[in-house]
Amino acid sequence: MESKQDVLKKVFGYDSFRPGQAEIVDAALAGRDVLAVMPTGAGKSVCYQVPALLLPGVTLVVSPLISLMQDQVRALVAAGVAAAYLNSSLTAGQQALMLRRARDGWYKIIYVAPERLMTQGFLRFTEAQPVSMVTVDEAHCISQWGHDFRPSYLQIRAFIDQLPARPVVTAFTATATARVRRDIEAQLGLQEPFRLTAGFDRPNLQLETRRLSESEKPRALVDFLLDQGDAPGIVYCSTVRQVEETCAMLRGLGIQAAAYHGQMDAARRRQNQEDFLFDRVQVMVATNAFGMGIDKPNVRFIVHYNMPKDLESYYQEAGRAGRDGESARCVLFYAPNDVRLAQFFIDKEEAEGDAPEEQRHAAAQEARERLKYMTFYATTPRCLRAELLHYFGEAAPARCRSCSNCLAPKVPLPRPRPAAAPKKKAAPPASADEKLLAALYAVRRDLARREKLPAFMIFSDAVLRDICARRPRTTAELRAISGIGEVKAARYGPAFLEAVRKGG
Ligand SMILES: [Zn+2]
Repeated sequence: MESKQDVLKKVFGYDSFRPGQAEIVDAALAGRDVLAVMPTGAGKSVCYQVPALLLPGVTLVVSPLISLMQDQVRALVAAGVAAAYLNSSLTAGQQALMLRRARDGWYKIIYVAPERLMTQGFLRFTEAQPVSMVTVDEAHCISQWGHDFRPSYLQIRAFIDQLPARPVVTAFTATATARVRRDIEAQLGLQEPFRLTAGFDRPNLQLETRRLSESEKPRALVDFLLDQGDAPGIVYCSTVRQVEETCAMLRGLGIQAAAYHGQMDAARRRQNQEDFLFDRVQVMVATNAFGMGIDKPNVRFIVHYNMPKDLESYYQEAGRAGRDGESARCVLFYAPNDVRLAQFFIDKEEAEGDAPEEQRHAAAQEARERLKYMTFYATTPRCLRAELLHYFGEAAPARCRSCSNCLAPKVPLPRPRPAAAPKKKAAPPASADEKLLAALYAVRRDLARREKLPAFMIFSDAVLRDICARRPRTTAELRAISGIGEVKAARYGPAFLEAVRKGG
């Protein structure tokens, strides 16, 4: 039988697991339930995809996020894995075809929306094919105490209970307090799970807060974006109107921005998301409807134009920056008005929500408490990283020396520059390395276009830099580079080797 290391290398191209991953894979392979709290960027998907490929039957990944499913399946198929998804984005005909193939045993991994689990077609498939593992992504959605409760998640337990044999159940979430973790275990009926809380610390994120008045924000945003060159990033706003206005303002200044919010029609939303994923626009201006499950590793900055309602939301959104491990900036704009707006949403939910009255009051009280911590983070002069880590129950040094508060006394902030058209710096003469790197990027762009994949799904920026540094001559040498699996080496390798041979 193949080992977990074999699969990691062959399919995903990595030589070693990241902290926490191997323990989770071992637990799942040993038939033990898992509850893992892993921050965005800690490599969650490997934790269930590797055991999924080693277990005898099918693995179901329950996810509320259509875009995540599509991206993950696209990436898996590109790596040679038999995967599919079932959600409302498929037509009835496509769903029937997918389910027929699933019944015939085509797939190892199936991503499924929670509301599809108890449908007749899906239940028929699970009668025909043994389910080895059920993985619950965004598991905090099952808890009413969490910050993102979804009633459809309550069906997961019933689905698991009616299966002919109980599968391994693994649950993952990026942020959950102790109370929410206990609730996840109870609601999913986890049996003595292996529990792992991976570190929340992301040293590559440069945390920053800025106190601004509402009228200072547009100028501050434009200045910030002009400093970022062509780097891709996300600007989060609290309301649909704010998204529309901000996006229009940026486009008016020649910044390539697209908008995303829940009130847009689905086709437009999908188009804008793809444009961002495929680097056709630089800046995504969005409400918090955007990003859950957006698997774009090279996001270089996240700006929160308004303060979010709690630190769970903030860190989940900010954590979408720098998933490739390279340096990225997370800037929070804070105006006192933000607190009032967040308060307004809490009051509204308390007054008009669907839950019974008592529950609504309790939830509102929790929400107010969380808002207090969020506001504290936005206004504290203390180390931001330390404050965040303490909030999630982790030890941290008193000063990180990289957040805006740690740097503030020593380095005076630069004066805001007048908003002018972005100037391109004169390029220095290209070295041989730069020439080769540019050639490798061009190869990747052409492949991405041909395969209709986002460029980073071909190879990451780090892989291209490694190819440039190591100049592999053969497929074997290429495969020694971290992040190049067997299928990708065979499919994309020749074009890159050719570029290396020509020397750029
Ligand atoms: Zn600090």
